[in-house]
Amino acid sequence: MKIETVETLFQEELKDIYDAEKRLVRALPKMAKAASSADLRAALEEHLEVTKGQVQRLEQVFESLGVPAKAKSCAGMKGLIEEGEEVMSEDAAETLRDAALIGAAQRVEHYEIAAYGTARTLAEHLGNELAAQLLQETLDEEKEADEKLTEISEKLLERMGETASEAPGHKVQSGKPQKTSSSKA
Ligand code: FE
Ligand code: ZN
Ligand code: FE
Repeated sequence: MKIETVETLFQEELKDIYDAEKRLVRALPKMAKAASSADLRAALEEHLEVTKGQVQRLEQVFESLGVPAKAKSCAGMKGLIEEGEEVMSEDAAETLRDAALIGAAQRVEHYEIAAYGTARTLAEHLGNELAAQLLQETLDEEKEADEKLTEISEKLLERMGETASEAPGHKVQSGKPQKTSSSKA
């Protein structure tokens, strides 16, 4: 499609995000299932519900333009979801897998934050206040989801740290790694 106006560009951006969100609605249940921590699973399940709302919000944005809601394959989200699947198939301890899952989920959030920020700016430029407001609402939700994931990661890692220091011979020390035998001497 030839993009000659800001309006056309805006519509193309919306089609991309619409596809991205719909892919995410399909991927998030798998990611939630793969989470070991109840906190992480709950956060991913909650974000699934939020994401369904974001799909509807995008449909309202299309409506505000008087054009049908259409999706155009989002290569970025496709790749990010693939990376999430890679993480899920890796052989890792529960907490570390969760931390890796959070890494995959935060990559998704950051992609969305970029996409919604761009779309919001285009809507503002076009004087479409309703669209700008709807896109800003979703942008805020994505930022919130990202912050929540950071919090969960910090808690998970903290708990893992405690376990490590409680177990004899597994104390995490700073500086050069030492062999267990020599450190006991
Ligand atoms: Fe989203
Ligand atoms: Zn995209
Ligand atoms: Fe999201």
